[in-house]
Amino acid sequence: MIRRVVLLICFVLLSAVPALGALRIDLPESAMNGRAFLVTVHADAQAPVKVTWGDKNISISVVKTDNEYKGVALVSLPRDFAKKTLQISAVEETPAGVNTVSRTIPVEHKKYREQHLKVDRKYVELSKKSLDRHYAERATVRSMMESLAAERMWDADFLRPIPGGISSEFGVQRFFNGKPRQPHSGIDLRGKKGTPIKACADGMVRIAIPHFFSGQSIYIDHGQGVVSMYFHMSKVLVREGETVKKGQVIGKVGATGRVTGPHLHFGLNVSGVAVDPIPLFSEKK
Ligand SMILES: [Zn+2]
Repeated sequence: MIRRVVLLICFVLLSAVPALGALRIDLPESAMNGRAFLVTVHADAQAPVKVTWGDKNISISVVKTDNEYKGVALVSLPRDFAKKTLQISAVEETPAGVNTVSRTIPVEHKKYREQHLKVDRKYVELSKKSLDRHYAERATVRSMMESLAAERMWDADFLRPIPGGISSEFGVQRFFNGKPRQPHSGIDLRGKKGTPIKACADGMVRIAIPHFFSGQSIYIDHGQGVVSMYFHMSKVLVREGETVKKGQVIGKVGATGRVTGPHLHFGLNVSGVAVDPIPLFSEKK
C-alpha cells in the first residue's frame, strides 16, 4: 500500500514538471494564398527559435510573457501559392539539443480578379531614361529588403493608415491599355488629397524619396521580415533613418507617380512576399 502511494506521488510530481522540449505552435485552422497569418510559439525556456515554412524561415525571440515563454511570427504565402497544404515548423536550439515541432494545415485558394485600366501612354511605353530610373529604384528597394531589422517592432494588430474604403483590392491582375502587368501588390484606399497617413506599426523609415511609378513613397521596416509601403503621397513628413510609432502621421495622401487620381496605395511585405494587409488590420472595414 505504502509503495503504491509513493509511486502515485512520484507520478504526480513527474506530471507537474513540463516535459522536455515542451515546444508548441498555435496556428489558424487554414492558410490562404496572398495572405499572412500569425504563428505563436510556446517554449519551456528562453532560447532562439526559428520558424520555417516552404523555402522561408524567420528567427524569432521567445521571451517570458504571462508566466510562459512565447514568441510570434508572421508566416506569408504568395498570391500564386498552389499547394494544398502547408507545413510549418518551429526549431528551438537549447544547450541540451535541438527541439522541433511541425504541423501541417490546409491551404484555401482565393481566385484574384482582373481589372482593365486606361492610363496615359507615357506610363505604359516608357522612355529609356524612365526605364533606367525605374530599374535603379527597384534595385535600391531590393537591397533594402535584404537588410531588415531582426528585432520585431510590430504587434499583431496593424493600424489602417487612412480611414477610406478600398478602391482596388490586393492581388488584382491589372491590364493597362490591354497589356498585362504585375498583380496589384497592395491595396488602394480612398482619400482626398492632404488626408493624414498614419504608420501601421512601430518601425524605422528606410526609404522616403520620390519614385517614377509610385511617386512620393515611404518604406518602413517593422522588423522580423515585415515592411510597409505608402505610395503616391503629396507630402512626406519623415526622413530616412527616422524611428516612427504606430499611428504617427508620416505623410499626406496625394496623386504623385502613375495614378489617375488621389489615393493611398498601401502595401505589406512579409518575408519577401507581398500579402493582403486587410486581414491583419485591427479595423477591417
Ligand atoms: Zn495600388
